[in-house]
Amino acid sequence: MDEELKPCPFCGGDAGVSEIRARHAFSAYCSGRSHQCAVTVETAGYESRERAIAAWNTRRNDLVIEDLSMLIRMMVTKHRRGNLDEEYCQKAMDYLQREGLQGSVLRAS
Ligand SMILES: [Zn+2]
Repeated sequence: MDEELKPCPFCGGDAGVSEIRARHAFSAYCSGRSHQCAVTVETAGYESRERAIAAWNTRRNDLVIEDLSMLIRMMVTKHRRGNLDEEYCQKAMDYLQREGLQGSVLRAS
């Protein structure tokens, strides 16, 4: 197993990187427990091994955290400038709704 690769997000198996020589590209894929993995999962072809590994290791939660960090920074900046308006707050709430992060109705007060 390649130590720098996260495990397959579907089966938890090992991942590998291969060079697609005909395209001069690299692709990361699920290699461990390949007979048990329910899906065939691999990245697109990238120009370097490092880029293929970075793409493989990028998970949805990483992107959501990045988006939320940006939203919070922008809201703080707008608040400090005194122009945090309802429209921007609604954009933030729309994002949470789209990502299924609006909270549980069971915990709503
Ligand atoms: Zn897998």
